[in-house]
Amino acid sequence: MFIVYLIVFLYGISIGSFLNVVIYRVPLGKNVAKGRSYCPVCGNTLSWMDLFPLLSFVILKGKCRYCGTKISWQYPIVEGITGIGFVFIFYLAGINAKFFILLFIWVSIIILLGISYNKKRMK
Ligand SMILES: [Zn+2]
Repeated sequence: MFIVYLIVFLYGISIGSFLNVVIYRVPLGKNVAKGRSYCPVCGNTLSWMDLFPLLSFVILKGKCRYCGTKISWQYPIVEGITGIGFVFIFYLAGINAKFFILLFIWVSIIILLGISYNKKRMK
């Protein structure tokens, strides 16, 4: 059973990784589908986010691999809460229609909160 929860969690953090892209680019009017996350300072693609983003974040101490710039804590936080949310919803609902409805609501809440938080910060 543990392995199922782990898979749900890993699936959750990979969705969370995409949510970060949405949260950052939608307010800036950038294309969400094109390209990956990149370092805002040196422009290098953040390849440490490919697999196990939370773990890589800890290993690299939240810094860009290329230029050493600190990467926003928003990345691992969004990934973490998405993953934990997925596990919690799976625990409550199992895999059925309710699971996907709850996931959709959870993901929408994260996007809305993330975007409104970023807009406040940019002002
Ligand atoms: Zn960089």
